[in-house]
Amino acid sequence: MSEPSSTLPRLGQWHGPEDLRRLQEKQLAETFTWAARSPFYRARLTSGAPPVTPADLADLPLTTKQDLRDNYPFGMLAVPRERLATYHESSGTAGKPTPSYYTAEDWTDLAERFARKWIGMSADDVFLVRTPYALLLTGHLAHAAARLRGATVVPGDNRSLAMPYARVVRVMHDLDVTLTWSVPTECLIWAAAAIAAGHRPDIDFPALRALFVGGEPMTDARRRRISRLWGVPVIEEYGSTETGSLAGECPEGRLHLWADRALFEVYDPATGTVRADGDGQLVVTPLFREAMPLLRYNLEDNVSVSYDDCACGWKLPTVRVLGRSAFGYRVGGATITQHRLEELVFSLPEAYRVMFWRAKAEPALLRVQIEVAAAHRVAAEAELTHAIGAAFGVDSEVTGLAPGSLIPLDALTSMPDVVKPRSLFGPDEDWSKALLYY
Ligand code: AMP
Ligand code: MG
Ligand code: ZN
Repeated sequence: MSEPSSTLPRLGQWHGPEDLRRLQEKQLAETFTWAARSPFYRARLTSGAPPVTPADLADLPLTTKQDLRDNYPFGMLAVPRERLATYHESSGTAGKPTPSYYTAEDWTDLAERFARKWIGMSADDVFLVRTPYALLLTGHLAHAAARLRGATVVPGDNRSLAMPYARVVRVMHDLDVTLTWSVPTECLIWAAAAIAAGHRPDIDFPALRALFVGGEPMTDARRRRISRLWGVPVIEEYGSTETGSLAGECPEGRLHLWADRALFEVYDPATGTVRADGDGQLVVTPLFREAMPLLRYNLEDNVSVSYDDCACGWKLPTVRVLGRSAFGYRVGGATITQHRLEELVFSLPEAYRVMFWRAKAEPALLRVQIEVAAAHRVAAEAELTHAIGAAFGVDSEVTGLAPGSLIPLDALTSMPDVVKPRSLFGPDEDWSKALLYY
């Protein structure tokens, strides 16, 4: 995999853990100098000598999401405001926002990390960015990475009225889109929308090379299903608005942490201890970030980090991201997690074409609804009920709903009129469209 030439570390530049540690140590002093320029860390770093090795970090308290919120908007700012290139806020909870901001130089690091895709990104690619652009980092991140590699970007967003699913399918098909970026759920909705438009996803999109996905947990069963539906590899990415890409997939299908660009630790909230590997919450210290330095930032994502060798030769730790998927609901004596349930739903025979589902955990019963065509309904209900009983030992009521019940057909096929504001209409025109710009 070739990377363009910034002066930042590149894959292949280190040959083992010692080498990698030297790379990290080289950057740590600058990371600290930058951090000490923000009001937040200036107040925090008053005592003690600055750390020299990654191990010295252990004396610093973790930085929490709450710290970011408490310092909204610019309490973490370490450069003059005019040096900022972009300002973002993380998705999720109402209430106080979680801000993050980057300089143009920070953006080089961000874009290079996202561009590390084993399948490559080049000027030959047509890249559909189908994650939000508003406030979050994700859309801009993929956009910048594609531009860095010379690809043609199709900025599709996914929170915009101007880009309904029918239009997504049209651009994917007519523009010969080769790569996409979205949450995994999107790839299933596109498949349904493509079928609704009369296309066969695995045959009628011959230019498509891969689907880049991230942003939500995905079981192996769901990944396999998406990959089979479209006939291309699904390549996973892990990151956040506050940090950018933290891990990407190697050709062996494992997620590797970008440990040349950030230091990673694992925090066990039960014991309060921090380790280099194992299970716990991921703690990250980005090494090349000037506008909003973060020292030992706890992402609060449940992960499992390992330093076992991988055949890809990248010499980077691997991570499994459980996110909050360990969280479950009680039904009878069992704990039901979305992750395990998803695995069962997507392990149903492919021919049933079950892609959309929801479930409700009641005290004594797990209620599940799946979209399934009438021809497969009885079999799908019986097989899923059996699988749930075998996996969890709980009673369930599985209902097969007609396709269109959970995701309305209209959402897949309609092409809403997105207009500019208009006030003057002719005598025979419908003026109820006046000012319809919201
Ligand atoms: P945001 O900061 O709003 O961009 O969302 C970032 C969050 O999405 C992360 O902290 C994770 O909880 C979740 N996330 C991102 N990528 C993945 C992934 N590949 N697997 C599981 N969860 C993910
Ligand atoms: Mg976030
Ligand atoms: Zn690997």
